[in-house]
Amino acid sequence: MHFSKSFIPILKNNPTEAKIKSHQLMLRIGMIKQSSAGIYSWLPLGFKVMKKIEQIVREEQDRVGVQEILMPTIQSSEIWKESGRYEDYGEEMLRIKDRQDREMLYGPTNEELVTEIFRSSIKSYKSLPQLLYHIQWKFRDELRPRFGIMRCREFYMKDAYSFDLTDDDAFFSYNKFFLSYLKTFKRLNLSAIPMAAETGPIGGNLSHEFIILADTGESKIYTDKRIFEVDSSSTILKKSSLNDLRNAYEKFYSVTDEKFNKEKFENSVPEEFRLQTKGIEVGHIFYFGDKYSKPMNATVDFNGKKEFVKMGSYGIGVSRLVGAIIEAKYNDNDGIMKWPISVSPFDCAIIPMISKNDTSNLDKSNKIFDYLKTKNIDAIIDDTDENISAKIKKFNLIGIPYQIIIGNKTEGNLLEFKEVDGETQKLNLDEIASQISKAKSNWFHN
Ligand code: ATP
Ligand code: MG
Repeated sequence: MHFSKSFIPILKNNPTEAKIKSHQLMLRIGMIKQSSAGIYSWLPLGFKVMKKIEQIVREEQDRVGVQEILMPTIQSSEIWKESGRYEDYGEEMLRIKDRQDREMLYGPTNEELVTEIFRSSIKSYKSLPQLLYHIQWKFRDELRPRFGIMRCREFYMKDAYSFDLTDDDAFFSYNKFFLSYLKTFKRLNLSAIPMAAETGPIGGNLSHEFIILADTGESKIYTDKRIFEVDSSSTILKKSSLNDLRNAYEKFYSVTDEKFNKEKFENSVPEEFRLQTKGIEVGHIFYFGDKYSKPMNATVDFNGKKEFVKMGSYGIGVSRLVGAIIEAKYNDNDGIMKWPISVSPFDCAIIPMISKNDTSNLDKSNKIFDYLKTKNIDAIIDDTDENISAKIKKFNLIGIPYQIIIGNKTEGNLLEFKEVDGETQKLNLDEIASQISKAKSNWFHN
């Protein structure tokens, strides 16, 4: 890709309407464009990042045995009347009428629809557990959409649902998601902590929020710092191993403000380990038993008896994660963003110094590009006639983790190569390619 032909509309200055750095950067480097309040178009740079996040989320769902489906965005009000949520959901739900005057809605979540799908086909306990997910747009008419795609009205979410016969089986399903979330956020190079949460309007009795620390987050959190050291790398998909993992986390006090209790915090966390800060909710898992299966009559046959299935639901804010990664990885003091290589819109930026009547650096860039392509490395060449320091500054903001700079100092086979936030090295092209490939595969196998 040549920069001059790309659709990456960069702004000269920070947009004044944006209050937090992720929103500023996303507008500044042309990742998104607002179309109306809380509703955005995703431009190539933003869309590429979101698609890569989506793919990692997908792979980690598949890995714990969740099956992918795709439910529609538009739902009928009938099933919501069955569950009793049609009235309860209130003004956050966007309600629509079709030409036959039927009440429809743009789905804010999918418990009802997936329960309807489940009950129409699954009849025996022998088909359990059923774990289903989809990745689909949601609409919630938020009272105060803000912070760009962090709290918007139309957003992209992975939501999964589990169906089991007993509480014990359902906890096993819950714990599979617990593990898969930890693995997902790790591949995004984020440190997300699971926190005991209130269940809110979705209801139920067991719930964790996955929170990323950030000063601009909307959730107040109170935690024991030792929770950051819990290691999930040896956990396997067995009941006991997953229980051990949950226990290892739950040993440490860690809650959002809704559940906060000062006395409990101070009694259970020694002073040197207390951390009181803010965070961004990127995922949320719930267990709610028969809350939906009962009113919607979703049962399976078990020894001649009909049993209501036990359900849970599991969300990840795929589009919100784009902003959350920026909040975690962007240093707005020095203007340097660094995407984790696992989700970066390009693997490498080739930045040549180009003078009016000398195209040799551009020719060289094209050759480097072609070579990197044979190594599966996705590069972008800045072929514009801006001066080299303006180009470097621009790419520091765009956040491609690796830069190859082709200026006057390039001699022989050695190229100037640097990580966006690191020191310049002189390496030949082979060495550069293997360094980038190695970084990519490390993340892939994480
Ligand atoms: P919040 O407390 O932030 O409103 P929620 O509890 O309503 O979140 P869930 O219903 O659990 O959220 O949705 C799952 C995930 O979807 C959340 O963890 C979050 O990452 C994302 N999400 C929820 N609402 C929004 C929104 N308005 N804009 C962008 N992402 C959202
Ligand atoms: Mg909400």
